[in-house]
Amino acid sequence: MRTAIIGNGVAGITVARLLREQDAQSDLDVFTRETFPYYARPQLIELLAGAIRQEALSFYPQDWYERQRMGVHYGETVHSIDPKTKELVLGGTRHAFDWLVIASGSDAFRPPIAHAELPGVFTLRTLADALAIKDYAALHGCENALVVGGGLLGLEAAHALRRIGINHVTVLEHNLRLLPRQLDAEGAHILQRILASKGLGIELGASCRSFGGDERVEKFLLEDGRSFPADLVLLSAGVRPALDFLAGSGIAINKGILSDDRLQTNIPQVLALGDVAEWQGKIWGIIPPILDQAPVVVSTILGGDRSYQGSVASNTLKVLGVDLLVAGVAQPSPGNLCEVRVANEDRQTYIKLVFEGVHLVGAICLGYKKLQAQLNRWVAEKKQMTVAEAHAIVDQNL
Ligand SMILES: Cc1cc2nc3c(=O)[nH]c(=O)nc-3n(C[C@H](O)[C@H](O)[C@H](O)COP(=O)(O)OP(=O)(O)OC[C@H]3O[C@@H](n4cnc5c(N)ncnc54)[C@H](O)[C@@H]3O)c2cc1C
Repeated sequence: MRTAIIGNGVAGITVARLLREQDAQSDLDVFTRETFPYYARPQLIELLAGAIRQEALSFYPQDWYERQRMGVHYGETVHSIDPKTKELVLGGTRHAFDWLVIASGSDAFRPPIAHAELPGVFTLRTLADALAIKDYAALHGCENALVVGGGLLGLEAAHALRRIGINHVTVLEHNLRLLPRQLDAEGAHILQRILASKGLGIELGASCRSFGGDERVEKFLLEDGRSFPADLVLLSAGVRPALDFLAGSGIAINKGILSDDRLQTNIPQVLALGDVAEWQGKIWGIIPPILDQAPVVVSTILGGDRSYQGSVASNTLKVLGVDLLVAGVAQPSPGNLCEVRVANEDRQTYIKLVFEGVHLVGAICLGYKKLQAQLNRWVAEKKQMTVAEAHAIVDQNL
């Protein structure tokens, strides 16, 4: 049996590792556009901040792939998939498979802002991106950075830029609050106050119209006409599934590759998981669901009967020393969910617990690191608790 995996990110490598653990014999090949061995993308923030060196990113020892008897094809872009011959079309060669796992992840989205092609305007998705940003900041002694996008990645990256000595870092968010996908208005307000008090510039409800500069980026212009200096720009406006190579393959896509509960696509023996896969209308875009999906992919290949039933999303973030957990259904739509919320503006803390009946299904926890792991676990197991018990937990931690 020959299995080919497109992608050497967390999805591809986890499938490869689990498959090899359960099947020592079959042929296993991993293809990646990148030229580096597997690394964890969250670590790129620490690399950008100068807290770790590139060598520290290597997740597996150099000979690991060899010992696992996997062929890893670095810098090898899959251009298309030929479903009739069951082959990957590479630059000049073809690779035959019996099973194909598509784990091609996402690409950073570049919003259509005029002159975004100027040197000094970056996105951050890969190790090569992080190294390029760091080198550029050092080479030009950058002093004024702009981060377009106040989501999780944007805030973490903004902090990393401050840590490498860029004095003025501004985050631009077109929504009226930070972390619009994770936080409610009250939590976002408190987070904003904390970040502002620590020197991060924040512009809410503002959109960038264009960048300016002669040879490289020097300034940005907002839709409202204001203009500010910027010698480094990071576009952090979300990601898009990496689907380009699927044209003509017959593989069904919507926003991502449509995958069923066994993570099969519409083409037999072709599976998809991770940031590129859309399951029940959802693309998670974070790592924990991938760790739930990978064993299902392996089970499907090996004839097992595991199915994927969704994941409880959770994010932990630490920006400028602020600990934040957002887990499960943290922003419920109006309905039969009930909330317990406590904010303390002076202490810059906020807790919100969301209940479906007597079950805890979501939480936001800003500033209480000790409570975060416990809340994360309770949300994952949908712990039963009364509203009085919830108030007691919150009160104990205030
Ligand atoms: C800086 C940063 C910080 C993050 N922090 C967190 C965090 O704290 N917590 C969290 O849960 N998530 C975080 N994420 C998101 C997380 O990294 C992604 O959800 C995860 O990497 C997705 O894994 P994946 O394997 O599906 O795709 P990817 O990691 O994107 O890997 C895709 C792989 O496919 C390859 N590929 C794509 N197209 C082709 C092609 N045509 N031919 C050959 N190879 C191809 C790529 O080279 C790559 O190897 C962060 C992301 C970034 C960029």
